[in-house]
Amino acid sequence: MNTVTPAAAHASAAERANLSGRTALVTGAGSGIGRACAAALAAAGAEVHAVDRDGDAVREVALAVGGTAHVADLADLDAVAALPGEVDVLVNNAGFQHVASLGEFPAERFELMHRVMVTAPLLLMQRCLPHMRGGGWGRIVNVSSVHGLRASANKAGYVAAKHALEGLSKVAAVEGAPHGITSNCVNPGYVRTPLVERQLDDLAAAGREDPLGSVLLDRTPVKRLLEPEEVAAAVVWLCGPGSGFVTGSSLTLDGGWTAN
Ligand code: NAD
Repeated sequence: MNTVTPAAAHASAAERANLSGRTALVTGAGSGIGRACAAALAAAGAEVHAVDRDGDAVREVALAVGGTAHVADLADLDAVAALPGEVDVLVNNAGFQHVASLGEFPAERFELMHRVMVTAPLLLMQRCLPHMRGGGWGRIVNVSSVHGLRASANKAGYVAAKHALEGLSKVAAVEGAPHGITSNCVNPGYVRTPLVERQLDDLAAAGREDPLGSVLLDRTPVKRLLEPEEVAAAVVWLCGPGSGFVTGSSLTLDGGWTAN
């Protein structure tokens, strides 16, 4: 019999995640969204493994959040295999953009995007799942994008890799469910991070006027960039007490971009 009353469920959903005693691994933790996730998960009590190929940045983040830095290039699958596996919360966040028309998209760049944004998350899930299953609890959060759900021109590698990550996340949700493991994607629109600042610089260099308003936010009803901390708050919520039934989902944080 289900003994959780709506009022109790409401109260528990309002509780903050308490991740004391839990271990979290965040990829791409040296910058932007990953950095904010590392900070928010540490603030919720988790012991954080911060992973990035940028050694200086990831050491700085680990120091700031009281976690452990791991310098690894996720394109190197042997380096991924050496990362910690005793992890309760896995945040697959590292990623990058490459802008080129489909006809000119370099195949090696396309493959690299898939290695970093799909194959590395698969290998990390494989590493962490035994520990999660053993403890009967695990949270996998995959930082996808609105481009995991929709396409834009000139982003073939990114759109294809994020759609693949969505599929991987759903399989992890289905296989993880009997073991208390959830797997979800978060799907941000444009976030104020170096990744987006580089796109704005490129658009300005190409002579586009008002690249933020007229290009990036053109389709976004809420006319501002998303902050990395807002994405991190969603990631922490997915690890908290009110979200155990949320799995296999794609949580858009896009100011209405996909609705428009
Ligand atoms: P960012 O460029 O600020 O940070 C990405 C981090 O990942 C960097 O520290 C970088 O060194 C690291 N990284 C990249 N490739 C790596 C590799 N091969 N091995 C190890 N580390 C690597 O980017 P961000 O905006 O914080 O993006 C983080 C994630 O969020 C990405 O997956 C991105 O696709 C996604 N995302 C970003 C936005 C946005 O608007 N910024 C929107 C939707 C989704």
